[in-house]
Amino acid sequence: MIAMKFGGTSVGSAEAIKRVAKIIESRFERQPVVITSAVGGITDKLVALGKSAATGDDDLVKELVDFITNRHLEIIDQLRLTSGELRRIIDDTIDDIKNLCRVISSQKNISKMLNDELSSKGEYLAAHILVEYLSQIKIPATFVDVREVLLTDSSFGSAKPLFDDSAKNAVEKILPIVKDGSVPVLQGFVGRDASARTTTLGRGGSDYSATLLGAMLGVDSVEIWSDVDGVLTADPSIVSEAKRIRSMTFKEAAELAYFGAKVLHPATLLPAVTRDIPVWVFNSMRPEYSGTKISRANNNGQKGSCIVKSIAYKENLTVITVTSLRMLMAHGFMASIFDIFNKYDTSVDLVSTSEVSVSMTVDKTEHIDEIKEELSRFAQVEIEQDKAIVCLVGEQMKRTPGMPASIFCLLQDVPIHLISQGASEINISFVIDDDNVDKVVTRLHQHFFSGALDPNTFAV
Ligand code: ASP
Repeated sequence: MIAMKFGGTSVGSAEAIKRVAKIIESRFERQPVVITSAVGGITDKLVALGKSAATGDDDLVKELVDFITNRHLEIIDQLRLTSGELRRIIDDTIDDIKNLCRVISSQKNISKMLNDELSSKGEYLAAHILVEYLSQIKIPATFVDVREVLLTDSSFGSAKPLFDDSAKNAVEKILPIVKDGSVPVLQGFVGRDASARTTTLGRGGSDYSATLLGAMLGVDSVEIWSDVDGVLTADPSIVSEAKRIRSMTFKEAAELAYFGAKVLHPATLLPAVTRDIPVWVFNSMRPEYSGTKISRANNNGQKGSCIVKSIAYKENLTVITVTSLRMLMAHGFMASIFDIFNKYDTSVDLVSTSEVSVSMTVDKTEHIDEIKEELSRFAQVEIEQDKAIVCLVGEQMKRTPGMPASIFCLLQDVPIHLISQGASEINISFVIDDDNVDKVVTRLHQHFFSGALDPNTFAV
C-alpha cells in the first residue's frame, strides 16, 4: 500500500486531473490511498471570502462565491462529468459556503473555527471530483470523509492530530476499501475535533495529512505530488540552474522544510520518521522524472562534492533582541523569555545568545506588541523587521572542517545579524536583510554547486 498526495496545481484543471488519474492508474497494483488538496488557489479564495464576509463586503463575497462555483463547474464540464450526484454535492457545498458567509457577516467577525469550516470546503470538492473522474475511467474509487478518520485537538487553524485514535479509524474505514480493490480518496489538510467540528492542520497541511495517514496505515511509501521536480538545491526562482536532489535524509529534509524550503510542510516528515517510511517528492506535470527520495539513510556513497545538499531561505522575519544585565550569571532568565513567547503561541526559529542578550527570529508577528510589552518589564527590547534566514543543509557538513569559514568568506560585504550552527551540525543558518537574499543565495549556490557533483545525489 502507498499513500499519494496531490497538491493544488496537480488537481488545478481538467488536464491536470486527467494526468493525476493516469499516475494513480500506473500505481494501482500498489494499492494507493489518495489524499488531495483543493483545486489550486481555491483555499486562498475561501480565506479571502471569510474575510470579506466579516467586513461586510457583499460585492466581493458574491464575486468570490461565483469564482469558486464556476471554477469547479468548469472543471467537471471539461472532464465531462455529468453525474447528478456530483452536481448535487457541488451545489450543496456552495450553499454551505453561502450560509457560512451569512453567519460570519452577522457576527462581523470570523472565528478560527468558522475559518477552518470554510477553508476545508476546497478539499471536499476536489476529492469528490477526483473520485468521480476515476470512476468514469473505470478506476474504482471511493470518497472517504477524512473527518471520519483524522481526529485532532481543537486548535483551529493549526490543529494537532490525535494519532492513536485516528489510526484506529484509518484501519477501520480505509483498509476495507483498499482490500475491496478500490482507491480511497480523502481530503488533505482537514480533520475534526472531539465535538465533531471541522479543523485544519494549517496552510499547506495536506502533505502532513498524507504522512499521517500513511503512517497510520503502515504504507510502504508516501508520494507527495506537486508541481516541482523534487527537492531542489535552491529556489529556482532565484537560481535558475538549481538541481534536483535525488536522495536526502529525513534530517536534511526536515531542516529544509523548517527553514523555508516551500516544497514540504514542516511537520510532514514527523510521522514518516517515526515509522521509517520513505517519502518521495514527484512532479505531477512530469511524472517520468524520478523525483527526490527522502529516507532514513542516504542510499549512495556520496562521491564528489555534495557537502551542501540545499540552500533554503525564509523571508519577512522579525528579529527580537532582549538585553538585560540581569542575565549575567542568572538562571531562569531564558525560561522567563520563552514563557512569554509560549503564552502568545509564537514560535521562535533561530536563537543566538550572549552573556547579556538573546536574539531570536519569529515569523508570526500577530502578538509582537504584547510580547514586547511583557519583555520590556525586565529587559531592553529591540525589534528589527524585514530580515531573512538563509540555511545551508547537508549531512556531510558535520564532517567538513572550515565550513563556516568558507561560507562567511563569501559574504564579507553582507551584514549578518545572527549566526547559528544547528545542534545536529547538519545546518548552518544566518540572518540577513531581506534585500540581500537573492545575492546571497546565488553566490552560495555558485560556490557549492558549480563543481563536479555526485550524479547519485544530484540530477546533473
Ligand atoms: N489547500 C490547503 C492550502 O492551500 C492545504 C494544502 O494544499 O496543503 O493551504
